[in-house]
Amino acid sequence: MVIWQRTHRHCGKCGSPNQALEGGFVMQCTRPECGQRGFPRLDPAIIVLVHRGDKCLLGRQGSWSEGRFSTIAGFVEPGESLEDAVRREVREETNVRIGACTYLASQPWPFPAALMIGFDAEAESERIVLNDGELEEARWLTREQIAAGEVMVSPRLSIAYRLIEAWFDAGSGPRLAGLGVDSALTPGGWIRSPEKS
Ligand SMILES: [Zn+2]
Repeated sequence: MVIWQRTHRHCGKCGSPNQALEGGFVMQCTRPECGQRGFPRLDPAIIVLVHRGDKCLLGRQGSWSEGRFSTIAGFVEPGESLEDAVRREVREETNVRIGACTYLASQPWPFPAALMIGFDAEAESERIVLNDGELEEARWLTREQIAAGEVMVSPRLSIAYRLIEAWFDAGSGPRLAGLGVDSALTPGGWIRSPEKS
């Protein structure tokens, strides 16, 4: 809320100063003839565990700590359904085609304004091509490879971890939580809003 107020100090319509009202949940233009009201912004982003057969698709960004992999994620575009965003993001980042996808859970990440919307999705193709350069690497991983510590997955409090855990624990082997393959929480590892503050 503080970040939003600091970045909306002026009316977007006429440029006059805004004032905070209703406990800070509204920023209203102080020019009486205008009176434009603005409300806190939320940036919806999809995050998705993609799987096919006994493997799941994880990727890593170049800025992340060594060996850390996570689920595919990205911001929803205007005019796009959440399911379309899942298919587009996975295609853009890895070239993998998505079939059925199902909503699982969400997590607010208000630093500054993201709402992560978590999906489980089945892939219809496997060949990886890093189309848009957002990921440094993407891999198909079996539960055995994850259990063997070939990669470090996202921190435990993240929705990415919960999505990976839901898929992993559907297998017949050990539970993910007992394996110690989750990484520490590092600010650089999180999805950032395009409007950094
Ligand atoms: Zn105004």
